[in-house]
Amino acid sequence: MNKGHISVQSENIFPIIKQFLYSDQDIFLRELVSNAVDAIQKLKTLSRKGEFKGSTEDLRIKIEIDPDKKTLTISDQGLGMTEEEVKKYLNQMALSSANDFLDKYKDEGTGIIGHFGLGFYSSFMVAKKVEVVTKSWQKDAKAVKWICEGEPEYMIEDATRDQVGTDVILHIEGEDEEYLEERTISDLLEKYCKFLPVPIQFGTKEV
Ligand code: ADP
Ligand code: MG
Repeated sequence: MNKGHISVQSENIFPIIKQFLYSDQDIFLRELVSNAVDAIQKLKTLSRKGEFKGSTEDLRIKIEIDPDKKTLTISDQGLGMTEEEVKKYLNQMALSSANDFLDKYKDEGTGIIGHFGLGFYSSFMVAKKVEVVTKSWQKDAKAVKWICEGEPEYMIEDATRDQVGTDVILHIEGEDEEYLEERTISDLLEKYCKFLPVPIQFGTKEV
């Protein structure tokens, strides 16, 4: 008998994710917002445990459209990621930090939504390029920027971000430019992102 390990070719997985992961590409916003919620819930858990000393009052998610740059940005004031965490959790598809976190804080009722480690990649259903600028809550963590254009190559470079948290910047062009319209995004927030435990700010509105 032969035993082996099934492997995956990331070049081939990207188009599959783009087309078939979700039947409805609108879902990318729900996925990115739920990651932002998770990041804030985790920081609150760390604060309850006394590990994070900063304030966790009024932590929020902000969504912004820049029509000139053609970007949609989802920003959160959650726990952020170190460079190692970016490499681990963003570069490895289908790897979620949820299990690691829940193992450590299982008695805390963390309310984390994520699980399978695929949701983030749904951003490539609408974006040609995705940038993540993040700064971890951990002491002396440096801000880093991850850039990926939907191919199996990514770049990581130093970045500047004063506050702890994460910005996910989607560069949208062509047929998906409807996601740069205020109306589309506010409808999607209304549809998928109500009743979340964290306030979401879009323009002057709060969801
Ligand atoms: P899941 O949410 O199921 O864990 P995702 O593909 O959505 O999977 O995200 C993969 C991992 O990337 C998350 O588990 C988390 O560790 C990290 N991550 C994604 N978005 C953020 C964010 N806004 N802040 C901090 N970490 C994040
Ligand atoms: Mg997720």
